[in-house]
Parts: sequence; structure tokens; C-alpha cells
Amino acid sequence: MNSDWSVVITGEQWGHLRGHLFPGDGDEHGAILRCGIASSPRGTRLLVRDVVLALDGIDYVAGIRGYRKLTAEFVADNIDTCARESLAYIAVHNHGGIDSVDFSGTDMGSHERGYPALLDINAGVPVGALVFASNAVAGDIWTSDGKRHSASLRVVGRPQLSLTREPVPAKVADPTYDRQARIFGDRGQAILASSKVAVVGLGGIGSLIGEYLARLGVGELLYIDPDRLDPTNLPRVVGARRSDVVPLLQDESRPRWVRALGARFATQKVKVAARVARQASRKVQITTVARSVVETDVAALLTDCDHIFLAADSALARRLVNSVTHQYLIPNTQVGSKVSVIDGQIADIFSVSRMSIPGSGCLQCNGLIPAWKLTEEATSDVQRRRQRYIEDDDIHAPSVITLNAVAASRAVDDWLMTIGGLTQSGASADHWVSYHPLTDEVIEHEPAKSTGCPHCGPNRFALGDRAQLPTKPS
Ligand SMILES: [Zn+2]
Ligand SMILES: [Zn+2]
Repeated sequence: MNSDWSVVITGEQWGHLRGHLFPGDGDEHGAILRCGIASSPRGTRLLVRDVVLALDGIDYVAGIRGYRKLTAEFVADNIDTCARESLAYIAVHNHGGIDSVDFSGTDMGSHERGYPALLDINAGVPVGALVFASNAVAGDIWTSDGKRHSASLRVVGRPQLSLTREPVPAKVADPTYDRQARIFGDRGQAILASSKVAVVGLGGIGSLIGEYLARLGVGELLYIDPDRLDPTNLPRVVGARRSDVVPLLQDESRPRWVRALGARFATQKVKVAARVARQASRKVQITTVARSVVETDVAALLTDCDHIFLAADSALARRLVNSVTHQYLIPNTQVGSKVSVIDGQIADIFSVSRMSIPGSGCLQCNGLIPAWKLTEEATSDVQRRRQRYIEDDDIHAPSVITLNAVAASRAVDDWLMTIGGLTQSGASADHWVSYHPLTDEVIEHEPAKSTGCPHCGPNRFALGDRAQLPTKPS
């Protein structure tokens, strides 16, 4: 069996499923998961779209060969839905036990009798089964090429969890990371080392996030930003050197055309960030993309990340990353700092970090992707690019490194506690927090979720490769 398959489930769905399988009666219970599919070189993920609980005595009944089974009618209803919507079909039940689990001979016999036909009905879209113990899961997933795959389970909630067939011993962490491994353990350090994390926007905040991730020992980094450094970035972009902005050409005293020429030779922001990351870690793998994240092939690179930090102040980028989060079940954290000036007076200053977990309130539901801004960005993109150094609002907005550092630290800290499994169960699923230094206030915000939302609702949720992302052709 191949083992590069995983089933990804949200924290809320996992709560329902676990409560149903393990109500405390020590008995067996069943369910069906209908899943979207995401394939990449990192493996295949089955993204749980629907958890359909089998009612005891009605859908899940005593069998002739085995202990219990799903009724033919329950199976038929669900495989019909899967076939209609091109979703993978995964039957679920539980055994006793705690830290390890496997299918019984009876279970395997029933897969061998039933799954070739189900695979046929499902038009070749995978079918299979998971069996749970309270802290373990085993999988038997069938694909149309005649192969069978084992699978692990990943819960993308707060905290994040990972379940396997039996405990996987963590390698002793590299001694370089000894001080932080004392917090997160060897297992936490191993999770960091195996993580692929994207940073979209490598300006003031993104450059700090990149530095934190590299120093923490994250194994794989994806940096996306189309821009080059300009002299006004030097006070904020971590690792930027004066020579990166070609100071001889970009000096204020030079004519505009000379400065424009200098701007074309300035170092790309992704290259500065990659240089910083390599100074922090010998092992980190870095992919840099100096293009816009909303181009179709660039956006595709996000779809197998474990987390996305969104530090680009653009509504188009927000719409894209927000969609990736809910379509591919990849959490994101949107970060920013803002100084609002009204009539020449500073009205408010704040840093914000908004971590969105798949399946709960999204940026769109909370009015953070205004339609007017999308339209403005989409229509004036070419013009704005041509005149970037004169008219781009984002570049000339007030900004300071200390505000950026508050947002960046908060964002990476929340992520770290979540993947390290340290977030306590009372913590809310999403964590949106803003800091307002003028009034010394920290405001926590629980995002709302609206039904039928085009980003996190049923038109997109957990559909993986089957749905289109809001990108534009490159
Ligand atoms: Zn069984
Ligand atoms: Zn939404």
C-alpha cells in the first residue's frame, strides 16, 4: 500500500465525528465522509466536505458476517451523491483501543467484495474506508488504477492534530533548536520541519514573517511577491541592504527617468527574503516567485501548502487566498497594520492578525473583501503598474516597522501554538485580534459566518481540484 494519502477534516467536523464514534458506550458506530480531492507532488488529500453520521439501528445495523454494517440503502444514497458531485466516498467505523488500530479480516473481506462495484458506480473517483481508535486511524482507499492506499488523518482546527495507524516516534530535534524544542517537543520541531508555508507579500510584515518561519526551522517556504525593493522599504524590510535599491540611481536628486531605471535593477523582495532565510537555516527549501499571486499557475502553488500568511494589501489577493483556504482546507492568516489619516490627523493606528480556519467565518463573510476594491484593482492594474512609483497608495501609506512586528509576531505565534498542539481546547476556532497603540487596546473579534458565502460556502467548500479558483490567466 502507498501511504502518501491523507484525509483532511476541519476541527468542527472532527468534533461531530469523534462525538458520534466515541460517545462513551464502548460500542461500534459508523459514518460516511464525502470528500473533494487535491493532488500534488506532496501527495493526495481527501478533503472532507460532508460528514454523514449513520444512525444506530437505522443506517448502521447488525451484519451477517461482521459485527455491524452500513445498510445498503445508506450506502446507495451516499454513493449516488458522490457520483453526482465527483466526490470520494469514505466509509467510517470505529474499533476499541486507543493508540493503534487496523481493519479486521471481516472488514477487509467486505472491502474486497464491495469496493470494485462502488468504484465503478463512482466513475473511478476513489472509494474506501477509515477505521478509528480513539487516537489512531487506518485507511484503505481504492483508486481506479487498481491500487490501494493507506491514509492518515489531519485535523485542521485549533489545535491541529494528526492521526496515524500507530504512534510515529519523532526524531530527536536538531540541537540547534533545543531551546524551542523544550516548548514544542521533538514532535513539534518535526512538524515545523515537514511544513510547507507560503508568505504572500514580502514587504514590511511579510519579510518579518519569513524571517520568523526560517529561524523556527520550517522545512519549506514559498515566497510570492511581484515587487522590487524601493528606497522607502529600507526602514521596514528585514534583511534589505542599501545596495539592494541601487542608491546611486535612485537618489532623490536624480531625474525621474534615472530613478525609474534604478527601480528596474533593484532587488526583488522575494530574493531579499530568501537571502534572510538561508542565513537562518541550511536546510530550508525556498521557492521564490516574483509574480502576482492571482495568476493561475502561481495560485496553484498555494494549493498544497500547510499554511498561508497573507501580507499583501490587495483585495484580489485576499479573495484568492480566502478561496484557497476553504476550497483546499488550508488555514490562512491575514496580517496588516494600518495608520488611518483623516484631514491630515492620525485617527487610528492598528496592527491586525486574522487566522482563518477552514469551515469557519471567512474574510468575505466579514466584509473584508469589498467589491469596489476588487473592481478598482482589476480595472486599473495595468495603469497602476506603469505608474507605480508615483501613484501607488499602498507604497506611500504610513507605515512603521514596530507596528508590523506586532502583527507578524502575533500571526506566527498563533500558528505555532496551533500546529504545536498547544492551543487549549477553550480557544475559539478563529482568532482575529487587533492592537491599537493610541488607546493601548487589544480587541479580539470572533468572525461571523454567512450561509451561502461564495468563498467558504457549499459552492467551494472542500471541493479541491474540482472547483476553479478566482485567478486570472498569466
Ligand atoms: Zn471493523
Ligand atoms: Zn465566507
